[in-house]
Amino acid sequence: MSEAAGQTHAFQADVARLLHLMVHSVYSDRDIFLRELLSNAADACEKLRYEALADPALATAPFAIEIRIDKDAQTLAVEDNGIGMSEADLADALGTIARSGTRAFLERLSAEGREGAESPQGAGPNLDLIGQFGIGFYSAFMVADHVDVFTRRAGSHEAFHWRSDGKGSFSITPLPLADAPAHGTRVVLHLNEASKDYLEPGRIERIVREHSSALTAPIDLIESPGAEKRRLTDGSALWTKPKSAISEHEYTEFYRDLAGQFDEPALTAHWRAEGRHEYTVLAFVPGSRPLDLFDPARQGRAKLYVRHVLISDDADVLPRWLRFVRLVVDSADLPLNVSREMIQESPLFAAIKKGVANRLLQELTKLAESEPEKFATVWTNFGAVLKEGLYEDPEKRDPLFGLARFATSTHPDGGRSLKDYVAGLQTNQTAIYYLLGEDVKRLAASPQIEGFRARGVEVLLLPDPIDAFWVATAVGFDGKPFKSVTQGAADIKSIPLQKGEAEEPAPEEPPAARLAALFALMKQVLGESVADVRASDRLAESPACLVASDFGPDRRLERLLAEHGQLGAASKPILEVNGGHPLIRALVGLVGGPDKQKIEDIVWLLFDEARLMEGDKPADAPHFATRLTRILLEAASVATA
Ligand code: ADP
Ligand code: MG
Repeated sequence: MSEAAGQTHAFQADVARLLHLMVHSVYSDRDIFLRELLSNAADACEKLRYEALADPALATAPFAIEIRIDKDAQTLAVEDNGIGMSEADLADALGTIARSGTRAFLERLSAEGREGAESPQGAGPNLDLIGQFGIGFYSAFMVADHVDVFTRRAGSHEAFHWRSDGKGSFSITPLPLADAPAHGTRVVLHLNEASKDYLEPGRIERIVREHSSALTAPIDLIESPGAEKRRLTDGSALWTKPKSAISEHEYTEFYRDLAGQFDEPALTAHWRAEGRHEYTVLAFVPGSRPLDLFDPARQGRAKLYVRHVLISDDADVLPRWLRFVRLVVDSADLPLNVSREMIQESPLFAAIKKGVANRLLQELTKLAESEPEKFATVWTNFGAVLKEGLYEDPEKRDPLFGLARFATSTHPDGGRSLKDYVAGLQTNQTAIYYLLGEDVKRLAASPQIEGFRARGVEVLLLPDPIDAFWVATAVGFDGKPFKSVTQGAADIKSIPLQKGEAEEPAPEEPPAARLAALFALMKQVLGESVADVRASDRLAESPACLVASDFGPDRRLERLLAEHGQLGAASKPILEVNGGHPLIRALVGLVGGPDKQKIEDIVWLLFDEARLMEGDKPADAPHFATRLTRILLEAASVATA
């Protein structure tokens, strides 16, 4: 530590880890550091623009960002005249990880076990994820041996100097006001050996034009100490320009800065609402899933402006089920002189929210019609979120039903709409059948849908937790109710079997009386574990399956509720048995015979098998193992005898 009054702080553990990764990364697109620093500088200007509404004396000059190259000192500096940072801001903002996306990024790296994996060149982990997601200020350490931050909070009489070599700690020391910006922040990078090419003005200019041209503060370049500054970008707000004046590249760069994500947007919607309320919206559906889509703490990325002044970068503009959309709203009518909170409570704001949700639904509908393949990826990425709207926002159910795409028993790869489904209804089919679970592949192999398959009846395979909820509350689609295939009697006898199936002679069932005797015995064996044992219409190849009673909730919904502690205990299932199955016929033959143990073993194993097929565990693992071993032992002895 050089300066006397300074303090050394350790980075939060996650930051230290991130920095280690960054410094040792072989990631080649190091240019992104500049984009991150410029983005922070522009944010700082927007924050001060907002504070200056209440206290105009705070902002003393037009907002601008300067990039300064100093070849002799081998430094690159980015300076803004924005809000600046206090001592506490510094320790917090540049010592911890505030962005949920960055945390999710680290988690995913560890989850994939990539962190420890060395690249083929042995030069460190290969972090291609860095290129897909913004990781903020710390990316500076990809190009710098050490970084100095000189900053003064607008309105404060203190300034501070933050310094770090990115190796575990940083220091903060008081800074004489004469050495600090009047207000704002100067970030000075002492470029490392491999990054001296960033001292070339041409290189910097190219990166700025390419990646930062849509920022809302102008950017100037000073090529060497004392040189005239040269304006690179004008800082005018992109959304205020007419659509025809904006290139696709500009839209994409704007999206990247807004979303902190570096792919192509899947949908760009830019419109001006006129009439009673005037506002402009520029909205994007990301091209891939943000890392933190399901993180409850994730920050919204809806920026709310009033007449070009940023009021909030986390405005509550979108319904939850559109939370993956990134957007800017700029209102001409909202009052500027009231607090953020009051603005968000105003009826005007409510009208904007409504307008935005409606328009986005329209845009998505249009995309589904005009570019079904592009829409398919949107649905793959965000369908699970959109489906929340089916449950939370009954008013929007119809348009959302129009968008929804499903994997079904006949189309396990997905892409089926409800309209497709209804167009393929079989004779006498009156309901839309569905099966809830966790995994489409397993659902497609469920015994419960065999009878439906034999009749050519399509079954929606619903793998997301939210499915259990919307399907239980939606009245139906096109006059057809939704019906779970695992609930109540199957009721599909009146639907004719498919041709191929009908030609095969139906497997002979044992006489009803003997079946009834078997069911009674099974019920006795299984006791409290089942509500009933009965014959089934819904099975074709499997011997047995579990279903819910006619009036109880679907079994999957019940399990979800139980997992969330909303339900004491799940109700007892019904075991349905396929009377035509060879195993069941053999079992009928054993009833009344001497080997009671064997019947019991088989009955319990059948029950546990049905549980396994639902993705559940055997009811009692040790007993399951003992019984299975006993039966296997017998089978093996028969084989060797
Ligand atoms: P993000 O910009 O997503 O918040 P960063 O890692 O880029 O994440 O920056 C972390 C924080 O550091 C910012 O949120 C901000 O509080 C602070 N910060 C960074 N650069 C500046 C700057 N030039 N002026 C003011 N604050 C800054
Ligand atoms: Mg940032």
